[in-house]
Amino acid sequence: MLRQVRNMHVKAIKMRWLTGGDNYSYLLSTQDKTKSWLIDPAEVLEVLPNLDSSERKSIQFIANTHHHYDHAGGNTGILAALGKENIKPRVLAGSHVSPATTDVPEHQQQFTLGNLLVSCIRTPCHTQDSVCYHVKDPETSEQALFSGDTLFTAGCGRFFEGNAQEMDVALNQRILQEVGEPNWSLTRVYPGHEYTKGNAKFVRKAIYVNPNENKHFDNLEKFSLENDVTTGRFTLADETQFNPFMRLDDPIVRKAIGDANGSWTRVQVMDKLRKLKNIM
Ligand SMILES: [Zn+2]
Repeated sequence: MLRQVRNMHVKAIKMRWLTGGDNYSYLLSTQDKTKSWLIDPAEVLEVLPNLDSSERKSIQFIANTHHHYDHAGGNTGILAALGKENIKPRVLAGSHVSPATTDVPEHQQQFTLGNLLVSCIRTPCHTQDSVCYHVKDPETSEQALFSGDTLFTAGCGRFFEGNAQEMDVALNQRILQEVGEPNWSLTRVYPGHEYTKGNAKFVRKAIYVNPNENKHFDNLEKFSLENDVTTGRFTLADETQFNPFMRLDDPIVRKAIGDANGSWTRVQVMDKLRKLKNIM
């Protein structure tokens, strides 16, 4: 599965799919493929066979979106295997809970990867060390967001180490502001799991119950029913149109969850949405 985003390359590697899982690891590479970041390579035996020798040599950083084992659990094994080929990437993660971490980024800290600019967006909630990585090619404006378990297509992560207010800040302030509105439609979203089908099912059952209530959601639902892989197919602008966790002020969303008068705070709406999703 090789996706070309013009000047950058994003290779999505399925992990744990044969055993009922739905994780993705990603190889983000420059146009000439001489430099790359390997994002969340949790399953060594599934990731390494998907990388050829020049791809392995190109890896400058292993980057984790958060410390959970199905994202960070492969760091040590990948380092050991690459070390045998004398390849020694650094490990970028939101905290030292991720094994072998060498670099912990500040919010909005920037890195360069060849001609690409990577900005680290700290989004505490799913875990306190959650980081999203926004990548931009300044020449073409092509962009990608590696959103871990914070933002999923038509959904968001569980609040394991945080609360509804933190998720509202993460999704609707930090990510949106750091990417910047002119870039929302240019930024493809690459989440940590393929959850789109389940998320669409929830949204249809609990939020946009009738067709035509949200045309963007209707299109997303159709796509998710016809495609097992949706990562990289939708943009941040799309999310603002169909993802209820990014539409906390939408009267249809509020009415569907019990706020008929639109009098709840955003945090109350976020909290109720997540609770409804948790019990589905
Ligand atoms: Zn997680």
